[in-house]
Amino acid sequence: MSDCIFCKIINKEIPSKFIFESENIVAFHDIHPQAPTHILILPKKHIATINDMEKEDINLIGELFFTAKQIAKEKGISSYRLAINVGEEAGQSVFHIHLHLLAGKKF
Ligand code: AMP
Ligand code: ZN
Repeated sequence: MSDCIFCKIINKEIPSKFIFESENIVAFHDIHPQAPTHILILPKKHIATINDMEKEDINLIGELFFTAKQIAKEKGISSYRLAINVGEEAGQSVFHIHLHLLAGKKF
């Protein structure tokens, strides 16, 4: 997707520091953190929203959560919020699936 900001980050057209990268997933810090720790975890595959998820993406979405758990563990974070906004009304502003990992404050 040529006009997707997260695809541009994944393809390194926009410079960004990944805190995690694997074959299918990348993670980086949110540019406007809503908590002391605010990390975005996303599939390299462009899927606009959870509503666009296909059955073949089940493992990939599972991998997002597994990666979140691993990143949290690495950072010594035991309690955190994981969130995916689906659609504009729910607060989605970037239409490339991403999991928010938020921690470091009382929600
Ligand atoms: P959402 O509102 O759920 O779609 O989340 C999109 C998130 O992406 C927001 O929290 C933004 O602050 C964040 N964001 C947008 N552009 C960038 C960027 N270039 N680098 C890092 N985070 C970004
Ligand atoms: Zn994209």
